[in-house]
Amino acid sequence: WSAETIAVVTGANRGIGFEIARQLATHGLTVILTSRDTTAGEEATKALQEGGLKVIFHQLDILEHESIDSFCAWVKEKYGGIDILVNNAGISYNTGSENSVEFAEKVINTNYFGTKNMTKALLPLMRPSPEGARIVMVSSRLGRLNGRRNRIADVALRQKLEDVELLTEDLIDATMNKFLEEVKDGSWISGGWPQNNTDYSLSKLAVNAYTRLMGRVVSERGDGENIYINCCCPGWVKTAMTGWAGLTSPEEGADTAVWLALLQDKSVNGKFFAERREINF
Ligand code: NDP
Repeated sequence: WSAETIAVVTGANRGIGFEIARQLATHGLTVILTSRDTTAGEEATKALQEGGLKVIFHQLDILEHESIDSFCAWVKEKYGGIDILVNNAGISYNTGSENSVEFAEKVINTNYFGTKNMTKALLPLMRPSPEGARIVMVSSRLGRLNGRRNRIADVALRQKLEDVELLTEDLIDATMNKFLEEVKDGSWISGGWPQNNTDYSLSKLAVNAYTRLMGRVVSERGDGENIYINCCCPGWVKTAMTGWAGLTSPEEGADTAVWLALLQDKSVNGKFFAERREINF
């Protein structure tokens, strides 16, 4: 890796995203640290620059189309393209509550639709190289399709979401939109949705499904268009999201995402990892 290798990390002003940016930069890459809040992002960037790392800040709110567009225009003009994208930005409002869906729309829009929009916008800017360009989604085991305790009750829907050949963006979007409609009319409780951190779990289920779908899509591109996309669970990490509960540090939580971002193994595409091991969707 060299300073010519450009990596973008979303939601990198704090928590796991900050650590992903730091660890990638220690490998000698140029890291574009992005944050929706300019002051927080600039401070985080300064801290890494003071440690001698090549880190550059740019504002990016993955919920705002204009912000995504102006970020992409800036990247294109300044670097021509990028080599690594880590979609880390995410939110949860379940900490300290049994299972709140009060902010379901914001959670699904940020964690799934925002992440998807970012991926789509940056895909044309990913530079194919012999090693390949890499997209990493920071997701969660809570979004597992077939987790024993926290899954969608509708077996037929689960099967459709599981079969990568049948999977479509419309199906993933429709599943999220159906849940949000049920949230609005209050019927979500009997809707057979995951019972643990419902909105957050579903948002990550959608991220996982989108990863598998895009894994298939990018693998159909021609030679020299090598792009690999995988997702990972960072574990239960001590950050603001968990109210600093959790079992591991942000350093450990960032490890698998960084490993996937730098991986040279071309057989790894459209897969789900935790602690550097492949796990089931
Ligand atoms: P934090 O809450 O510490 O960090 C989340 C980051 O995402 C912040 O930088 C936040 O910005 C940013 N963000 C939120 N919304 C947007 C947006 N619209 N546009 C751009 N950035 C945004 O949480 P973590 O570091 O723990 O979480 C990082 C990722 O890891 C998330 O995707 C999370 O779901 C995932 N994860 C975390 C787990 C854990 O145990 N901590 C477990 C499983 C998955 P701001 O500072 O402005 O709020």
